[in-house]
Amino acid sequence: MAYIDPDREAWQVFKTLPKGQPINMLNLIRLKPRAEYPADHPDHGKDLTGLDAYRAYGRTSAEVFARVGGKQIWVGKPQVMVTGPGSEAWDLAFIAQYPDAEAFIAMVRDPEYREHVIQKIRIGYELPYDVIGLMKDGTRFNLEVKGKNSLEQIIVRNTSTDETQSLDGAAMFVFIGVRPQSQLVADLVKRSDKGYIYTGPDLIVDKKPPQGWTLERDPFLLETSIPGIFAAGDVRFGTNHRVASAVGEGAIAFALMKEYLKVL
Ligand SMILES: Cc1cc2nc3c(=O)[nH]c(=O)nc-3n(C[C@H](O)[C@H](O)[C@H](O)COP(=O)(O)OP(=O)(O)OC[C@H]3O[C@@H](n4cnc5c(N)ncnc54)[C@H](O)[C@@H]3O)c2cc1C
Repeated sequence: MAYIDPDREAWQVFKTLPKGQPINMLNLIRLKPRAEYPADHPDHGKDLTGLDAYRAYGRTSAEVFARVGGKQIWVGKPQVMVTGPGSEAWDLAFIAQYPDAEAFIAMVRDPEYREHVIQKIRIGYELPYDVIGLMKDGTRFNLEVKGKNSLEQIIVRNTSTDETQSLDGAAMFVFIGVRPQSQLVADLVKRSDKGYIYTGPDLIVDKKPPQGWTLERDPFLLETSIPGIFAAGDVRFGTNHRVASAVGEGAIAFALMKEYLKVL
């Protein structure tokens, strides 16, 4: 059986261990015969062994390990499992010593370490927590979902402060991808308070075109408050957020651009 994530309760106990009390961590490593780098990794396809990948991880994480005061006090190569099942044999073993639990926690939270540890994940080992979300104000968080046969509880953990909030619930709706990325034209075209770009009829208020509109005609259907600038797809105010609509609006905007160019 592979134990990848630490037990949450045990991790809570670990965090409360006294300051200044050294931690000797016994690391038992089982390596994959071949490293499993994903296709976009520079080492993909180089036919590296799990040991090569683990050494690469060791080289890159050594600096952070030393920075928190960590040192390796023993290393060995297990030879044979004398008492216990042979299937529980290990390829490498070492003891890493940290000044205290806080130092270990500082290491696993170090952004540089987190980046390098990805190599370790690829040979079958993971960090306790991984950031899976970013809130509007920049707060990073991760989620843990709990339940026996269906969802019962969601635990939201702020990865900076470690604060957790437990929410009871039978369903979770993931609401992502709805912030319009219209900053590029923020000072140029009229937008809604949420950042969606107004076009065509949405620009006409009390039968009047938007302020600064210089043409005799009203804005075309997908034209913004600046003549000749068009908006299509999700970024446009009032769209129904569907692929087919975005594609169709793109084609319409192209036709309208030609209309605009005709009279120049
Ligand atoms: C989770 C989720 C599920 C969805 N499921 C469906 C579905 O099942 N069916 C369906 O029809 N629709 C679905 N949609 C909606 C669909 O994805 C959108 O309606 C569609 O992708 C909109 O296309 P778009 O070209 O307007 O915008 P996008 O697809 O968002 O493309 C905009 C592009 O502009 C880029 N960009 C942003 N700012 C800049 C900048 N300053 N400079 C350069 N590039 C920039 C972005 O990176 C992005 O690649 C879903 C959306 C989400 C978020």
